[in-house]
Amino acid sequence: MRTINHWINNAEVGSTSGNFGPVYNPATGEQQAQVGLASVSEVDAAVAAAKEAFTTWRSASLSKRAEVMFRFHELVVQNRDHIANLVSSEHGKVPSDAAGELARGIENIEFACGIPQLMKGNFSEQASTGVDVYSIRQPLGVVAGITPFNFPAMVPMWMFANAIATGNTFVLKPSEKDPSVSMFVADLLKQAGLPEGVFNIVQGDKVAVDRILDHPDISAVSFVGSTPIAKYIYSTGTANGKRVQALGGAKNHMVVLPDADIDMAADAAVSAGYGSAGERCMAISVVVAVGDVGDKLVDAIAARLPKLKVGPGTDPDAEMGPLITREHRDKVASYIEGAPAEGANVVVDGRENDLPKDGFFLAPSLIDSVKPGMKAYDEEIFGPVLSVTRVDTYDEAVQLINDHQYGNGTAIFTRDGGAARRFQFDIQVGMVGINVPIPVPVAYYSFGGWKASLFGDANMYGPAGIDFYTRTKTVTSRWPDPATSSVDLGFPQTR
Ligand code: NAD
Repeated sequence: MRTINHWINNAEVGSTSGNFGPVYNPATGEQQAQVGLASVSEVDAAVAAAKEAFTTWRSASLSKRAEVMFRFHELVVQNRDHIANLVSSEHGKVPSDAAGELARGIENIEFACGIPQLMKGNFSEQASTGVDVYSIRQPLGVVAGITPFNFPAMVPMWMFANAIATGNTFVLKPSEKDPSVSMFVADLLKQAGLPEGVFNIVQGDKVAVDRILDHPDISAVSFVGSTPIAKYIYSTGTANGKRVQALGGAKNHMVVLPDADIDMAADAAVSAGYGSAGERCMAISVVVAVGDVGDKLVDAIAARLPKLKVGPGTDPDAEMGPLITREHRDKVASYIEGAPAEGANVVVDGRENDLPKDGFFLAPSLIDSVKPGMKAYDEEIFGPVLSVTRVDTYDEAVQLINDHQYGNGTAIFTRDGGAARRFQFDIQVGMVGINVPIPVPVAYYSFGGWKASLFGDANMYGPAGIDFYTRTKTVTSRWPDPATSSVDLGFPQTR
């Protein structure tokens, strides 16, 4: 059995805890590797390496740090296909989806290449007579990232690109479900010239996470994952005096107004609802049909589903792969099972498709007349199940979304600019799409939801990432006029 190790000081390090987790091939259901689950002392070893590297790395010039990022960017681009296939083999999403994920990750490396510009501080000359005030940005020290299974390449890049470029050293705890891609990326960072100890990986589960949260030498923790764990990470990490950014789960609504182009909206709902088998934090989960669009929209979406090819990532024609584990697939299927008893109408039942029995497959499903109070509406399903909720008015649609516990992403489909503008004003959600179903901000903006989708106030990547990984030092400086010097410096004496 292949074993996936830790990465410390630019080298693979075998796990000594004696505990391992299974890594599956979701398309076949077979275990393809095991991953070492770090003990407290293994986490401590990674943090010690990062702490030692920090002194030198924070002193590295901005141009040196930018140079490493440029070289790393080149290497990731050169290895794009390999990385996409690696993601596909452990996560299950098809390689084209994985390549899309990687493209969004690469944007964050591009952003970090601009670090000399991004690290600039402020300067106020003559704040008082002979007094200047200026602020500089400095890195925090050792920072950690804890990441989810669903974007094993992109989400770590959201974090470590900015963290390293700003002069911190980094310890990544990837999802134990698909840990290989991080190891490959670590080797690319080494090839790019990143010194030992600047980027480290501890594979692990709750034991590793809890050590990260209470380790005295870790200054900040970045987390992306489900809401209960995000809440736990935020409360524990901040109680331990750390800076924490914690992004949680989602339930993203797509509002379709009566004037929308139905074909365009149906295409968007299908790609945003079922891409990556719905295992995206920005996936559309609920389509809110306003007025009389419900029947037309449900028909248009249902008509598209038989054409969506479900299969393993090794099949070049496959557009949607399996889910991450058997347990998760069964949990997602339970929402379809329970929907009729709660009064909803299962229009397309993905459990009925003939798919490889051993893989963790579930074909796209569509549930109509889903309402608040039903499990399929209230909870994050995180699978290829799209719900349709029918409302009479725009105001009802807004109320529905604003009342939901999550506020990650949302979208509106309309031809009316005024309605779209009103929506962006009214809606209590962090990321809004106007005729764009998955409004993930580009890397020079920042990513973050509202309500139970984000704990604390720190968004991720982009300018917010630079703020998160640096602290400001403000200097107030007085230099007397040289003309007053007791030594004759050659200035006209005023004394
Ligand atoms: P998860 O919360 O189960 O796991 C995330 C990380 O936390 C993993 O590294 C895992 O090892 C660790 N973890 C799990 N249980 C833990 C525990 N009890 N104590 C300490 N650490 C623990 O999430 P997941 O299933 O890997 O990912 C899917 C979830 O992530 C979904 O809810 C999805 O919406 C969310 N997500 C959110 C965003 C966002 O940007 N808001 C992005 C991607 C995924």
